[in-house]
Amino acid sequence: FPLKFIPSKISNPGSDPACTFPFLDPILDKFDTPALDPSLRPLPSDPPGTIIEPPVAQCPVSSTDAKAAASPRLTHHSIIGVVVFSVLMLILFGALSAGLAYLDLFMAAYIAQNLTARLRNQLFEHLQRLSLDWHGKQKKGDLVQRITGNIADIEKLVTDGLVDLMAACLTLVGVASIMLFISWQYTVISLSIAPALFLIVLGYTRNIKQAAKKAAKAGGQVADVATEDINALTVIKVFTREEREAMRFGKRVSEHRAEGLRASGLQAQFTPLVSILVIVGTTIVIGVGGYVAAGNTFALASFVIPAGTVDIGTLVLFLTYLKLLYQPMRDLSKLANLSSTAGSGAERIQEVLDQAPEVIESQQPYYGPTKLHGDIAFENVLFGYTPERPVLQGMNLHITPGKKVALVGLSGGGKTTLVKLIPRFYEIQQGSVKIDGVDNRRYPLAVLRQNVSMVLQDSVLFEGTIRENIEIGRPGARIEEIVDAAKKANIHDAVINELGGYERLVREQGKDLSGGQRQRMAIARAILRDAPILILDEPTAALDVESEAEVMHALDKLIIGRTVLMISHRLSTLGNVDEIIVLKEGRIVEQGTYKELRHRGGVFAGLLEEQNRYNIEKIGEK
Ligand code: ADP
Ligand code: MG
Repeated sequence: FPLKFIPSKISNPGSDPACTFPFLDPILDKFDTPALDPSLRPLPSDPPGTIIEPPVAQCPVSSTDAKAAASPRLTHHSIIGVVVFSVLMLILFGALSAGLAYLDLFMAAYIAQNLTARLRNQLFEHLQRLSLDWHGKQKKGDLVQRITGNIADIEKLVTDGLVDLMAACLTLVGVASIMLFISWQYTVISLSIAPALFLIVLGYTRNIKQAAKKAAKAGGQVADVATEDINALTVIKVFTREEREAMRFGKRVSEHRAEGLRASGLQAQFTPLVSILVIVGTTIVIGVGGYVAAGNTFALASFVIPAGTVDIGTLVLFLTYLKLLYQPMRDLSKLANLSSTAGSGAERIQEVLDQAPEVIESQQPYYGPTKLHGDIAFENVLFGYTPERPVLQGMNLHITPGKKVALVGLSGGGKTTLVKLIPRFYEIQQGSVKIDGVDNRRYPLAVLRQNVSMVLQDSVLFEGTIRENIEIGRPGARIEEIVDAAKKANIHDAVINELGGYERLVREQGKDLSGGQRQRMAIARAILRDAPILILDEPTAALDVESEAEVMHALDKLIIGRTVLMISHRLSTLGNVDEIIVLKEGRIVEQGTYKELRHRGGVFAGLLEEQNRYNIEKIGEK
């Protein structure tokens, strides 16, 4: 465009050497055929008597006209030459611009994809580091929405906005410089809308960002209900809650829609408002420009444009540029929309990233042997999930290596909480938990947790083969070791005969295995892990009698040679543990062997009697 609008060309075209393009001459000359008559001859196809007018002297508006203006005695062939040249140039530039467009789109996508991938990984790694305590307070769907949806908002900004942003800024700077060159007075006038524009941009981006954040939050709630319900589909079906759940979901969806519409409404207002301002700006320029061009002097305070400074030609030229200037402004307003949404997404991601992991590695770590003996001591441990409501109140407990201890008590007594403090899933508020005499906060987390294995009430399997699922116990274990662990866990025969071998794929969470099979898989994992401390939190509670017996047999092999903490409500199975600890409301109320406690007539004896009476009643009924 600079070729087109060098102002000096306008007033004095044709004869002005500025209208010629010397660098094109050698190229254009190639198309000329000097041997042909250079005079202006009619073409054979023209009707007789046709007079060819010499081209009107005029400033060329494109390179095609350049030669025409430069040499008034144009031949027919040189015109063809120019046409051919132009066509070739068009093809060349078309291809070039297509190639560049491809590059531009691809590069933007490339940057966006890399950024998203990196952000996702970073967010996920951070999520994994955050404590169970924190996760316990979060909603899964909302977190997933942050990882997927909110990051996608940022991706969209980069893909759709980055190149636009650069192009708009470059155009703005380029066009503004030319405008200043043409007339600084008009430039000042056209910038008179800038303060209003600034205020609109500021106000709207802020509001859009807030609205977008609410919409993103509502989106998280939609995801929450969906995840919760998909996970609880069995219960929903059992209680025929489909309609109610659909209503609950529908409510969230319509909240999300409302929030989304609010944000979109603001966005929809924003760009037209900018357009209106643009029209206002243009009108002012035309008004003032026309006034001055008509021979008047424009004066506003100390800003004066004397009559005769700007003519109509310059005004028209200026307006053309003004249009070029305002387009990137509109583009930028669209970008502001995109960036507000992306900004709200980024804030939601930052919220998670800002969350410091509660359980952190020690500043002065203890580097002893990585294989611990399994001596566990709780010293005056005070712990609550919330500071106001302590669950364990001054817990004192010592378990020597290799001892088998059972934790019993009414539900909610704090048994699960107590065992979770050993691998430091939560930070205690007071006291200390010591393993082999060293505060467990001083061990590197990986060392501490490698020395503890857990079999919980319901074990989770991952999507993958059976072999991979057992291998989780010790990554890199050889297949013979895996088979050996499976044999000890009483699951080998089932794997071979019922499940279809070690390479059989297990579905997400192992839903296609029975509860007993899953528990025995978990035991195989624990055997492979071979940790000195073993925690069993009601591993047979969810099983039928037959599976329970199989799992108990597997457990018998697993507990050999380890310190075992076993939580069980089947008191009759506790005959051969070394010690029974009875917990009530976060305190130890009784401690001793099965025999001792049964005859003491305390809480344990009471619980035992209750269970027996219940069993006898049941038999009596039959
Ligand atoms: P038990 O295993 O003996 O049945 P728990 O240790 O699971 O008991 O629970 C002890 C108390 O801590 C209960 O009152 C329970 O409501 C509370 N509690 C358990 N887990 C959490 C948690 N993740 N967040 C808040 N409170 C919890
Ligand atoms: Mg429990």
